[in-house]
Amino acid sequence: MNKSKNAPIGSDGEITESDMELINKYSRKKLSREDVYTFSVVLCDNDVDRDHEYFTVDTLQKLAEMFVGVTGIYDHEPSAKNQVARIYECKCERVEGKKTALGDDYFRVVAKAYIPVCGSTDEIISLLDSGIRKEVSVGCGIGKCTCSVCGANMRDHECTHIRGERYGGKLCCGVLSEPTDAYEWSFTAVPAQRKAGVIKSLYHDVYKDADAMQRAAIQNERFRSYLILETVKAGVTAQSGINSELLEKMVSGLCADDMIKLKTLFEERASKMYPARSQLDLGSSDNNREYTNSEYSI
Ligand SMILES: [Zn+2]
Repeated sequence: MNKSKNAPIGSDGEITESDMELINKYSRKKLSREDVYTFSVVLCDNDVDRDHEYFTVDTLQKLAEMFVGVTGIYDHEPSAKNQVARIYECKCERVEGKKTALGDDYFRVVAKAYIPVCGSTDEIISLLDSGIRKEVSVGCGIGKCTCSVCGANMRDHECTHIRGERYGGKLCCGVLSEPTDAYEWSFTAVPAQRKAGVIKSLYHDVYKDADAMQRAAIQNERFRSYLILETVKAGVTAQSGINSELLEKMVSGLCADDMIKLKTLFEERASKMYPARSQLDLGSSDNNREYTNSEYSI
């Protein structure tokens, strides 16, 4: 099942006793179920990202521990009023049957977060409920970045391999390990501006189980339009040979579930064509370079 991308976001539904116990660890006054809204979010994974870097599984496991208790900000405004959600549970999990671009088993860090229900959080809660995809970014300190080709320390430029290039068929990536700190996570309704401090952005989404995803997809016309657009984009990137206008007509006739399947097929095809991720995904290369060379706080 592919549900870590383009998944709508929303409440986790039933809030259990154990959820409340964990949540109340972080609250000054004792909260009850009615006082909180909970949701799940994929924070990061071990797939190769737009900067041609990936976290090791061991790093993800450590990050999952570090992110417990960390507040999430909305819209990248690190002011107190925007720190609306707090992670109360976090784990690293393997997604059955899914592989990374490098062919390894796919792991991801999934967090459960809560938002206090009060007047000032109405807007964000309804946005989370709307099923629109959001971009999730995490900010963390990483101790080590090594070259996937030769194992050299990439920060000290110990080798001349270039991220995103292939050497003897092997893709060069920065392998991120030894996390030192998990300091923030954020979600935005629009793609994040890349800037120092909030660095490791993943087009990974707050996600839900398949049923909720389907329900929301059916109910939510905005999500549907979004999905049509993304599927067409994926088809064009994968060079499906069908022009975008025709593709849009075809996709529009599909149910959300089939669109997701089709989109996944296109993405798989594209990732075979561009194993290092398409340039289309990279934004301006200058930006990336600036990024790579900036002080290493991902
Ligand atoms: Zn190297």
